[in-house]
Amino acid sequence: MRAVRMTAPGVLEQVEVPTPTPGPGEVLVRVGAVGACHSDLHILDAPPGAFPTPITLGHEIAGTVDTLGDGVTGWSAGERVAVYGIIGCGTCRGCLRGLENQCRTVPLGGIGLSRDGGLAEHVVVPASRLLPVGDLAVTQAAPLTDAGLTPYHAIELARPALRPGTSAVVIGIGGLGHMAVQILAATTAVRIIAVDSNVAALDLATRVGAHHVVPAGPDTVDRIRELVGPAPDGADVVIDCVGVDATLATARGVVATGGRLLLVGLGGGTMPVRPVADAPPTVPFETSVTVPFWGTRAELQEVIALGRAGLLTADVQTFPLDRAPEAYDLLRAGEIHGRAVIVP
Ligand SMILES: [Zn+2]
Ligand SMILES: [Zn+2]
Repeated sequence: MRAVRMTAPGVLEQVEVPTPTPGPGEVLVRVGAVGACHSDLHILDAPPGAFPTPITLGHEIAGTVDTLGDGVTGWSAGERVAVYGIIGCGTCRGCLRGLENQCRTVPLGGIGLSRDGGLAEHVVVPASRLLPVGDLAVTQAAPLTDAGLTPYHAIELARPALRPGTSAVVIGIGGLGHMAVQILAATTAVRIIAVDSNVAALDLATRVGAHHVVPAGPDTVDRIRELVGPAPDGADVVIDCVGVDATLATARGVVATGGRLLLVGLGGGTMPVRPVADAPPTVPFETSVTVPFWGTRAELQEVIALGRAGLLTADVQTFPLDRAPEAYDLLRAGEIHGRAVIVP
């Protein structure tokens, strides 16, 4: 079968590999679609040894059940599925509570991370990683497993603060941000403020439910403050889907006293958190800063429910498998709007 693999650190290429065989408890999935994620760029850019090579990338997978390994029941060939990408140890304190995204044993274990992923015609996954998606299109189901699940989990963490009539700011309207806006619109009655440096991204935010859009620039904090009021008031929840110095400065510059900062984007920026009564403070009193990671299987089930109800739709740009490297180049250049989805 054809697979797009990281054959050496930083090298992504299409190669021919044997179609894998599912072992006991595993399922061979015929890949229908796989999302191209910024995390894949981090994997490609990681120093030698950080990730195994060669490895088939792709951790945002949907497709159809093909072949069942020994002992697998409850699935039938042709059934449409989404793949939960994390494989926790199953026995640590996090996993036992269903929080495999907090696994304390295998922090980066997963499909397309520590074992072969979905940028191929087929992928083998543990049967426990499958969730049914019904008649949802696979190009829609795939982005739900990460681009949908990650902001959903972040929003779940902040759920108690998302009171009707409060304000939530989403910074970065890319693959995750445009899903965050829709999840807020579908599950809360907050005022949604979207921020991006790109006009097309702001148009997308408006189309999917943002009440206000603010172009990123030197006066972003002031523009958002006009909407949420002066400190110590502000936005109750800020979701930064970018995570560079400039967006982190915006995030802490607009959050309310007692608010929630959710740092979802892994942009490598730094934010000072210093307990001191300066004006302006590094972060306001009573504010919590969280670095969410992906989500849980239970949350993915809920994200799929939003998708099936027509309340969460990924804005996708599709590419055939042999153009996957090009899709990643466009992602790196910031030229993908919504989510790039590879269709093998
Ligand atoms: Zn990802
Ligand atoms: Zn664990």
